Amino acid sequence: MQPPRAGWPPGAGFGGRAMRCWFCDNEARGVCAACGRGLCYDHAHFHDAMTLAKSDTSTGYTSYYNVLNALKCRDCRLEWTYHTPDRK
Ligand SMILES: [Zn+2]
Ligand SMILES: [Zn+2]
Repeated sequence: MQPPRAGWPPGAGFGGRAMRCWFCDNEARGVCAACGRGLCYDHAHFHDAMTLAKSDTSTGYTSYYNVLNALKCRDCRLEWTYHTPDRK
């Protein structure tokens, strides 16, 4: 447990507050790349690489980009889902 920092204004509203870790009450050092939850150093995990695919149905192009050392929380999982138009 950390004592409140000097000068921390209680009741200042969310606008002036540092983001907190979703899992504990420490100050967040980053956010999960997948779900956007705040993560402190203890609760952040690193992806070696995360590949995001974006397909545009109007043009038919699929673009990929790699995120290296992306932060990730422990709770959410990245799952690839495949959609086959003709079958279920
Ligand atoms: Zn934490
Ligand atoms: Zn997450």
